[in-house]
Amino acid sequence: MQRPVVAITRCSTYEQAPLLKALNLVIGASDFPEVKGKSVLLKPNILSDAPVGKAITTHPEFLRAVISILFDRGAKTIYVGDSPGLHGNHFTPLKSGIDAVCRETGAQWVNFAHEPVSRKIPFTYGRHLPFPSILDEVDLLFSLAKMKSHQLMYFTGAVKNMFGLVPGLHKSASHMRYPTVESFSRLIAGLYAAAPPDFSFIDGIVAMEGAGPANGDIRYAGLVMASKDAATLDMSMAAIMGYDIEQMPLLRELSRKRLTKASTLEDISFSLLDAHDLVISDFKRIPQQQKIRMLRTLIGPLFTRRFKFHIAQNKPKPLFDNEACISCGKCIAICPGNALQFDAEKHIQADYSACIRCYCCAEVCPADAIHIEHQGEQ
Ligand code: SF4
Ligand code: SF4
Repeated sequence: MQRPVVAITRCSTYEQAPLLKALNLVIGASDFPEVKGKSVLLKPNILSDAPVGKAITTHPEFLRAVISILFDRGAKTIYVGDSPGLHGNHFTPLKSGIDAVCRETGAQWVNFAHEPVSRKIPFTYGRHLPFPSILDEVDLLFSLAKMKSHQLMYFTGAVKNMFGLVPGLHKSASHMRYPTVESFSRLIAGLYAAAPPDFSFIDGIVAMEGAGPANGDIRYAGLVMASKDAATLDMSMAAIMGYDIEQMPLLRELSRKRLTKASTLEDISFSLLDAHDLVISDFKRIPQQQKIRMLRTLIGPLFTRRFKFHIAQNKPKPLFDNEACISCGKCIAICPGNALQFDAEKHIQADYSACIRCYCCAEVCPADAIHIEHQGEQ
């Protein structure tokens, strides 16, 4: 059996010349598809339209370099899109610099919320979710992910990035229906099966560790990674972050559903640098209760939604810092459990009996006013 290929190289900067060199290197060392004459949709990670220095989004210069390479290779049309939960139907990524890159390079920004089409999601007992209609028009879909930790999923990479295809607030309802990390992993695996990227890159030059994907700490990792197999790419990235990849619910789910040929690093062909040699041992990871999670992964599908809700509520609570809060209301708007409201002084009041610990509130808070209790490192 041919092993999936992952190409990893070092790159210390977002300056175009060295970045183009690094990207061309990983492209040349992986099974990169022919793009000549084709239309390509690029899906960067734009969790929120945050300034570049926060490492929340795929770096705009990373996007610029990929667009440049695709046009040089003869791509006919390049589209760029994402649909963050809170930015509404007419979202344009101004602060992140991504809109400017699109305009300067001739790529077209697309609105995922415009007349989305329904697709059936495998492994979810017939559930459908809306997807951007542009997916039916393009020849190729590329994931341009950011290397980040994630308080619910432990890490976010090329596969989880595909959740952003679901327009805006449609994502919140999915969190309510799949409240545990195991059940949410099944949904993400299904979504990945419904819309697998044809090729994936990870921007791991400046990564995020700790309370990601929005409020973590910036961590220089100096890596550019690529693969045709997004799941294998994520496995490599998670290993570099220091996670025990066999205990990662999403990776286990992808492997169990045969959405990747790799279940350990030994199943991967590293064409450039080897992930074994790149582990960042002091990376601030999200703590994991391994034995409990293993059991849940095995018997989780048998649990009722009520019981999954109960499991979720044993997880650490989001805590609200009224001193830092700017009363923007974004956490209230995105909360799938309707667990939040303002009190008379415009301070956040949380009903923890309704909270499913999805941490969407912390992801969207622009003031870093929401922290997860007992945050620590593995
Ligand atoms: S309060 Fe935060 S963690 Fe709890 S359900 Fe709402 S968004 Fe999710
Ligand atoms: S998102 Fe953050 S700043 Fe805005 S209301 Fe909620 S806690 Fe306050």
